Amino acid sequence: MHLTFDVGTIILLHNTSLIAGASAILHSRKRSSRPTGLGRLAVALIALAIGAVLAAFGERAALPLWLWTHLSLLLGTIAYPLLWDGIRRLSGRRQSHYWIVILVPAVWFIFGIVSGFPLVNSQRASVFHLTAVMSLAASAVEIWLDRHSEPLPARRPLAACLLVSALIYAVRLVCIVLDIPSEFDFSTAFFLQIFFNFWIALLVVTLVRERREAGLQLAADTDALTGVGNRRWFLGRLPPAPLANSALAILDVDHFKQINDRFGHPVGDLVLASVATAIRDGLREGDVLARYGGEEFALFLPNVDEQDARAVAERLRKRIEAMSIVIDGGRVSVTASIGVAWSDRNGGAWDAWIKTADSACYAAKGGGRNLVKTSAV
Ligand code: GH3
Ligand code: MG
Ligand code: MG
Repeated sequence: MHLTFDVGTIILLHNTSLIAGASAILHSRKRSSRPTGLGRLAVALIALAIGAVLAAFGERAALPLWLWTHLSLLLGTIAYPLLWDGIRRLSGRRQSHYWIVILVPAVWFIFGIVSGFPLVNSQRASVFHLTAVMSLAASAVEIWLDRHSEPLPARRPLAACLLVSALIYAVRLVCIVLDIPSEFDFSTAFFLQIFFNFWIALLVVTLVRERREAGLQLAADTDALTGVGNRRWFLGRLPPAPLANSALAILDVDHFKQINDRFGHPVGDLVLASVATAIRDGLREGDVLARYGGEEFALFLPNVDEQDARAVAERLRKRIEAMSIVIDGGRVSVTASIGVAWSDRNGGAWDAWIKTADSACYAAKGGGRNLVKTSAV
């Protein structure tokens, strides 16, 4: 591919991509609830734009050579490490590496003043491109590495764009260092760079939005007091139709009103949170737990026969009974009654299962509380 644009148009387009990207990122920052490196990213893009303007004026001899060469290199070597630091923060790393952001441009600047290398176009461009390649590649790696701890869909394309952007600079770097007249010329490289500048900014904003949406979704699905899922989330986690050899259990804390009356509502809250933790820690991988109502919890246990389902419920009952909550030197004793609905047949309606589990729980209350009752659907 061989594209030909005049240099003025390309620089204008390039700066448009940088400024538009910085504006979009700053706008996104205003709406973000936690600092995520967006400020650094925007400053990095603006520094790149200023550096490009200086270089453009310099090339037209509108500025003294020593001034624009040193300044544009300084801005470039500040901007890319700053972009990397911003991407790190955006990716979720708390620690900032300011010393690299300061050290890299400082070393190149002092070395430039002493040796005068920035006055030579190819040498200045080589250092600029090298800094860009390393910073963009490191940024891609950061975004990629954090994909498991925070799996947001925008991570993969953002890492890919950063990497491709690094590769474009790398190809240019090789051409500059080896003085290769290449088809992959100035216009083509800039055109691709402009394209990726826009795309990177768009994906940064998308990542921030996806993070916010994931936070909202989590808040909508979670019971704030106990930290486990809520009823809506639970019903959404059930298979579309009941499965054979699975169980649905309702667990209700015994005489909870008395706990509230005797120790106060805040202690009641603490008891509910402790019960939730005790249940959660006693479950198998794949079991589903939610706070179903006030002092009621619901459980879905897949792949269990009737004995297994009863054994799981018994274990949970014992865990709750063994909980040690001490208030004002006295132990708050907590027990729960559990009703388990189980079936060896597929199909039917979940409503019937919930009713069966509820009735079994009611039977456990009637039987004296602190009991497990199992019932086939
Ligand atoms: P039973 O053994 O028959 O289940 O008796 P109980 O006292 O546990 O049942 P009841 O339905 O009479 O009382 C439930 C109480 O749970 C009433 C309500 O005020 C309390 N409750 C519901 N939600 C919360 C909550 O979020 N925090 C606290 N502290 N109490 C709550
Ligand atoms: Mg109840
Ligand atoms: Mg109760």
